[in-house]
Amino acid sequence: MKLLLKNVRLQDKSTGLEIKDIFIENGTIAKIGRELNLEADRTIDGDGYFAAPGFIDLHVHLREPGGEKKETIETGTLAAAKGGFTTVAAMPNTRPVPDSKEQLDWLQERIAKTAAVRVLPYASITVRELGRELTNFEEMKEAGAFAFTDDGVGVQTAALMLEAMKKAAELDMAIVAHCEEDSLINKGCVHEGSFSKVNGLNGIPSVCESVHIARDVLLAEAANCHYHVCHISTKESVRVVRDAKRAGIRVTAEVTPHHLLLCEDDIPGLDANYKMNPPLRGKADQEALIEGLLDGTIDFIATDHAPHTAEEKAEGMQLAPFGITGLETAFPLLYTHFVEKGILSLQQLVDLLTIKPAEAFGLPFGKLEEGAAADIVLLDLETQREINPLEFLSKGKNTPFAGWPCKGWPVLTIAAGKVAWEEKADVLA
Ligand SMILES: [Zn+2]
Repeated sequence: MKLLLKNVRLQDKSTGLEIKDIFIENGTIAKIGRELNLEADRTIDGDGYFAAPGFIDLHVHLREPGGEKKETIETGTLAAAKGGFTTVAAMPNTRPVPDSKEQLDWLQERIAKTAAVRVLPYASITVRELGRELTNFEEMKEAGAFAFTDDGVGVQTAALMLEAMKKAAELDMAIVAHCEEDSLINKGCVHEGSFSKVNGLNGIPSVCESVHIARDVLLAEAANCHYHVCHISTKESVRVVRDAKRAGIRVTAEVTPHHLLLCEDDIPGLDANYKMNPPLRGKADQEALIEGLLDGTIDFIATDHAPHTAEEKAEGMQLAPFGITGLETAFPLLYTHFVEKGILSLQQLVDLLTIKPAEAFGLPFGKLEEGAAADIVLLDLETQREINPLEFLSKGKNTPFAGWPCKGWPVLTIAAGKVAWEEKADVLA
């Protein structure tokens, strides 16, 4: 399959914005240049669109197996493609959990059969994510695990976490941590702050997260392991990661679009579309996350795409499950609220969704250059449109961002040299 993208706007590191053509052959970017007249199976006029490397999201819940009512590998990766993502890493809090070679083999087969974009499967740290015994790390690595995580729950005991980190370090794999100290959760459904107080709800205190990160960076230092913090959400967590980096500890961290865009003051009422874990924190936390992103304490952005059914989310703030969808709203929201407002440059935002996560985990993706994998998204940076959950390809319509006007919409996504999603075939063909 040969594809030719004509007249796209490209960011050139030395010369700035340029109009060029991109020729794709056998899943690879074969040539980038001006007015390429090469024979292709399909030529696409990208006039007016900005071309970026396909985005990478290392924190996605595809829900399969066991949660197919919420999402499947097929619908989740179609949502990814529509959001401009060409690589996603799938979290293991499924039923069953990918904690054995058999389960991981099954998952890889489903991915090969049904995924629209590249999926990197996580293996769990502990059997059934119960926090009692480690999975067979060697076997899981051999079966293609991307890294180890018990996302959804924290690993409660330091001894088990240290053992996991030592094993991971031996295998040159990363430990990816959902940081939550069970004894501090307080049966909370939102952040312990002004919103919980006003509404008489139990709150999850900031220290529930930060205390785990503080523990873990010291364990990671002892184990010399690459330790990655999922969805960092508090100002104290940012400070701990910043200090750990200064001390030379191998720690990386991600932040979600919703924690960058919202805080507890923005929750309009008891609407479970604002319920996620970690919860929306205070204004000072939101500001610290943005500061941490700008100074490099936080390495990249990941969505924590967490689809649920409408029935589940209708159960209200206390009973509904945690999580919101993210794949189809991430770039437009961040472009509109960070690039257009001058907080990040377009290049910085693209890097935070591409080369930064790739570098943190040594992945060969996230570059738009000759010889690289042909993972490309074309973006319309001009048209303003409101976010409409009914248009999502994800089964999950649970988002607090419905109705938000945004620019920066993907119009065409190429994953590994194939068109994975396109907005209007007729307009682009
Ligand atoms: Zn998590």
